[in-house]
Amino acid sequence: MVEAQLAERGIQDPCILDVMRKIPRERFLPSAIAHQAYQDRALPVELGQTISQPYIVGCMTQALQLKPHHRVLEVGTGTGYQTAILAHLAKTVYSVERFDELSQSAQSRLRFLGLGNVVCKTGDGTRGWPEHAPYDRIIVTAAAPRIIQDLVDQLDEGGLLVMPVGGEGTQRLTTIERHAEKVVERPSIAVRFVKLIGEGGFQN
Ligand code: SAH
Repeated sequence: MVEAQLAERGIQDPCILDVMRKIPRERFLPSAIAHQAYQDRALPVELGQTISQPYIVGCMTQALQLKPHHRVLEVGTGTGYQTAILAHLAKTVYSVERFDELSQSAQSRLRFLGLGNVVCKTGDGTRGWPEHAPYDRIIVTAAAPRIIQDLVDQLDEGGLLVMPVGGEGTQRLTTIERHAEKVVERPSIAVRFVKLIGEGGFQN
């Protein structure tokens, strides 16, 4: 997976490649499809959600430019796979998931892997998690119709927000940089994510 799907397609950061080599992706899947864990695509998980394609996880992680001292907010814990990668590369990860059932299973996987630097909660992540703001980095792993201002507001100066922005079909993976005077938006590849449902996302 790491060589063929990531390194050859431009995920070059050795720390990201190492972490993705180490994390057992099959542990994040329903047992019936665990044997498909290393396929080059997104896979269906519980409650109609998906675990992202490894390449897209690599792209989003690379776009975040994580440093070991970073505090990261993740919106959309899902299976906890992306969360585990963030937890290896940053200091603390705050992760919000809409479905309690998904959050609970993700938390038990993260505990099993010994990742003690993740704090999870169930709720609508489109409003962020103001109690722990500001964040150095924010990642949204579901599609939103537009950039969410509440999340931009919870970024520290120099912070980055990475999220898929667009309609229900295809979105653009977008990186938003917050500077003192301005906010810079950098759209990149086309992606397909499940919908972010909530106040700042889709209605349903
Ligand atoms: N990163 C995940 C994939 C997440 S799929 C992984 O590696 O497995 C997107 C997730 O976002 C789903 O679990 C979905 O329930 C969640 N989600 C959708 N709307 C949300 C919201 N408003 N707040 C928090 N989570 C949300």
